Amino acid sequence: MSDPSLDPAPLTAETPCTRCGYNLMGLPATGACPECGSAVEHSLHGDDLRHAAPAWLHTLTRGLALILWGVVISVLCRLLGTLFRDVPVAQRSIVFAGTLIDLYGIWLLTEPDPSGRTDPAGKTSVRQVARVALGIATLLALLSIVLVGLNSVLMIKIGVGVQLLTLIVALVGQVARLRLVGQLAARIPRYDLQRRALFLTKAIPITYGLFFVLVIPAWAAGPTRRPMGFVLFFGCIGLLMLVPYFIFTIADLILLFRFRRAILGQLPPAAGS
Ligand SMILES: [Zn+2]
Repeated sequence: MSDPSLDPAPLTAETPCTRCGYNLMGLPATGACPECGSAVEHSLHGDDLRHAAPAWLHTLTRGLALILWGVVISVLCRLLGTLFRDVPVAQRSIVFAGTLIDLYGIWLLTEPDPSGRTDPAGKTSVRQVARVALGIATLLALLSIVLVGLNSVLMIKIGVGVQLLTLIVALVGQVARLRLVGQLAARIPRYDLQRRALFLTKAIPITYGLFFVLVIPAWAAGPTRRPMGFVLFFGCIGLLMLVPYFIFTIADLILLFRFRRAILGQLPPAAGS
């Protein structure tokens, strides 16, 4: 769909393709890049989001709204799940169902920019990393339900391992999503939101990682094999790490809320209604 107001005359200035960098000089504005096929008109504007496709921006804001609502739904489903403590499969299925809205929201937030700017040629983009992590985390969550359903001691032990792996993959996904938000915020441009996103890409994995590094050995060693003081010391410091982790997680949600409002401000009034 090329803009009918575009001048069909060949470009007279050096214009790199936004996706692959090919020089588009000499091509008509209504044409496509001979290297990667993206529309020439995408490369004529700056990369500010106000020039981006409104339909894509709408998809991003819908994704952000679903992620924010997904938090509420997933907390409710977690509470509901505790009613089914005696039926682990039911409990885990309810908790998993509660994450579906969030998962769909992340899927929408990681839709590619039609101009190709979120996917530079020849590089794995953070958008793709976020999507792959989303897919793997979903499969692992389903696998852990199946394993718990098999109801043997060994399977339940593997299930715990699978859950741990799910947490790690989800963390990778969260960091990739934050980096994507940082990139897009810079295109509004809202450098305050970009800086916040980049800070959280470090703060969240560090506090979460310290929690696991400190708590798991303390928990695994148990009071029988280590002096109680050792277990308590590392256990308590590890648990303390959960406090900044939760604060940063809330900061992440506030960031998504403000980022969504900032994108809505970039939408043309007609398309925004
Ligand atoms: Zn190209």
